[in-house]
Amino acid sequence: MSKKKPADVVVVGSIGIDTIKTPWEKRESILGGSASFACAAASFFAKVGMVGVVGSDFPADYRALYKKFGLDLEGLQTMEGETFRWTGVYEKNMDNRRTICTELNVFASFMPVLPPSYLDAEFIFLANISPSLQLHVLSQAKKPRFVMADTMDLWINTARDDLLKVIGRVDLLTLNESEARHLTGKSSLVKASRVLLEMGPRYVIIKKGEHGSILFSHAGMFLMPAFPLEDVKDPTGAGDSFAGGFIGALSASGRITEHAIRRAMLYGSVVASFGVEDFSLDRLATLSRKQIQQRADLLREMMRLR
Ligand code: AMP
Repeated sequence: MSKKKPADVVVVGSIGIDTIKTPWEKRESILGGSASFACAAASFFAKVGMVGVVGSDFPADYRALYKKFGLDLEGLQTMEGETFRWTGVYEKNMDNRRTICTELNVFASFMPVLPPSYLDAEFIFLANISPSLQLHVLSQAKKPRFVMADTMDLWINTARDDLLKVIGRVDLLTLNESEARHLTGKSSLVKASRVLLEMGPRYVIIKKGEHGSILFSHAGMFLMPAFPLEDVKDPTGAGDSFAGGFIGALSASGRITEHAIRRAMLYGSVVASFGVEDFSLDRLATLSRKQIQQRADLLREMMRLR
């Protein structure tokens, strides 16, 4: 019997059934969650093991879509009850988002377990989920080479101590600009990044939505633009797709150098730009590796100073 291919990248995060309203359109009960976006994005570059939980109501079509991305679902638990649900509304500029409703459902009693084929994964992404669950995953991984974590305002407000423990144990922390300011109390992102680097990570990536992202490390700063789009249909999960594309590309490169990190940001930015062209995983589901490469080449060209 052939042995199962172990996961290169393990992602733990939320799996949600989302309802999303933009100024132009409303979609109900579509597949979302930080792990869904991150795993789909990473799958273009690496073998991805998903860790998460869904309820007994989770549609078979959504599970089939995960399979289409080639995800390893051994770490996906199904519990009696309803799947996590989230409702968000975007204002006119698509930048400001309000959470209307969060129903934890099966998440309330979830305990992530890494199956044997995930234990040796070298790259781990702790996507947005409670810091105590992120710590629980970290305690099981045997010898990760590179761990990155994401978080959100909710955990800064409600689980700060556990969040600081997570930050102290990861190689890279990624968060958006308002979260960086909120967590550190510094309005300058340069000052905020200094505080964040002192908390433990070697790298900090601050996401600035349509304005791209900034990498901070002891080597200095690096700016990665977002790919300019004519139309954004749904920005939900952009940060998760960025992170997934980033860690997938980093694992595929096999190196963890400043250069490899910067290059992985290019792929994170490109995959995220495709993700927001449609709701849920719809655009990522039709995306090819070739299209990713073409847009990556175009974005590099846009950055070139002659
Ligand atoms: P983002 O746009 O990167 O913030 O990611 C949006 C996704 O995060 C949605 O698909 C939601 O299902 C999910 N989400 C919303 N609130 C939470 C939460 N409290 N914990 C985990 N995931 C969440």
